[in-house]
Amino acid sequence: MGVTIIGAGVAGCTTGYLLSQRGYDVTIVEKGGIGGLLREIEFDTGYHCDSAPHLLFYDETEEAIVGELFSEFSELDAHDFYAKTYPTGTLDEPHDYPVTKANIDLWDDSEQIWDELANAEGKTDADYFDQYMLKQVGPTLYERYNEGYTRKHWGVEPERITGDWFDFKISFPEEEDSFFSGGAYYPQKKYTTILKEMISDCDVVFDGVTGLDTDGDRIQSLVTENGQRLEDDRFVSTIDPSILVDDVDATFDYRSMVIYGAHIEASERLFPSHVNWGYFPNDYEFTRVTDYDFTPQSIPEGEYILTVEFPCFIDEDLWTRSDEWFDDYVRSFLDEQGVEAEILDSQTRRAPRAYPLPVEEEIQKFELINGRLSEYENMFNLGRVSTYEYIWIKDIVQQAYETVDEITATVTQ
Ligand SMILES: Cc1cc2nc3c(=O)[nH]c(=O)nc-3n(C[C@H](O)[C@H](O)[C@H](O)COP(=O)(O)OP(=O)(O)OC[C@H]3O[C@@H](n4cnc5c(N)ncnc54)[C@H](O)[C@@H]3O)c2cc1C
Repeated sequence: MGVTIIGAGVAGCTTGYLLSQRGYDVTIVEKGGIGGLLREIEFDTGYHCDSAPHLLFYDETEEAIVGELFSEFSELDAHDFYAKTYPTGTLDEPHDYPVTKANIDLWDDSEQIWDELANAEGKTDADYFDQYMLKQVGPTLYERYNEGYTRKHWGVEPERITGDWFDFKISFPEEEDSFFSGGAYYPQKKYTTILKEMISDCDVVFDGVTGLDTDGDRIQSLVTENGQRLEDDRFVSTIDPSILVDDVDATFDYRSMVIYGAHIEASERLFPSHVNWGYFPNDYEFTRVTDYDFTPQSIPEGEYILTVEFPCFIDEDLWTRSDEWFDDYVRSFLDEQGVEAEILDSQTRRAPRAYPLPVEEEIQKFELINGRLSEYENMFNLGRVSTYEYIWIKDIVQQAYETVDEITATVTQ
């Protein structure tokens, strides 16, 4: 029995691994490189980082399956992962992130903020992000830490943002807390090495899928950019369904991201020593900076591996700016912060469709197109892009096990 999987990100590779283990003949079609969003940035200086940080976050009681799977391929190092936010735009003024009550006393108008907090409803249900935040923390904390950041990250007004991730992302503890209350792990081996090992028994075709050849409610083959027709019994998609469906009149958007990676030599570390993530809810065009000193490589003293995340839509100017523009932007940020730095090497990576938009109109259009795709009895889908859900590696691994069970059930029926 054969299965062809579209996309070799963590969704496609995990599914490919599990299916090949169960004796299926698996082909994976990938238009870029193996790893998808998990592909590392490799610097000419010999160091590397993720294209945006990729910790394995999971709760060891309920989600242990992720750890078990990745442990088959690599040792996993446990981390306590801390972040800071910089609402004043100054590295000298770090505030706790997740935002804490302790942050309030860092402001001159703390009395008013405490009053607003006392009058706020506290943790509550709300349909939209701004309602949720205003009810929980009042207007000033919301405006200083979340409102502008959310608009910059998603590119839409926070009053339109919906979802089930508010509770999880916005915890608002009393004192500084690590970023994730469950476990956070990082593999000793690179993600792409792990994923390539996972799919060592699968055939990989490097080509872009552009559409489907169908017969009633069955897919016969995938049509590709290079004019191939890839026939199979079952198909799994981990990509944008609008690429596969051309008879539904709707388009939906994703938030994309330009990820700038740099190996720098600098006069100081950007964040306090226990912190790896810095969030920027201010006028800088980036949202987050990561320091990769948690990765298993020995980075010389005074040198740092960083990524800087610039969210945008792919029809925005930012998406097509040159590598030099990003070098200059980051250089002037460091300069403004009083950090003397030399960029030893840098690379700009573009991640299209990095985030499904948590906006009702977009979700409805996605469902329309995805609904058409799911009418095909031999098509299955999973992953962040294909299910249009704001999910993590742990959720995708869970989906892969479920998808393999579904496929097996259709075979044994
Ligand atoms: C900035 C950022 C930070 C993150 N940090 C974390 C974290 O710390 N922990 C965590 O658990 N998760 C994190 N995530 C989420 C995680 O990266 C994603 O959920 C996961 O990598 C998505 O995997 P995927 O296989 O679904 O999609 P992708 O990785 O996007 O894979 C899809 C693949 O399909 C290929 N493809 C696309 N179109 C075609 C086509 N037409 N034909 C053939 N192939 C095609 C692509 O090239 C790609 O390889 C982060 C995400 C971002 C954006």
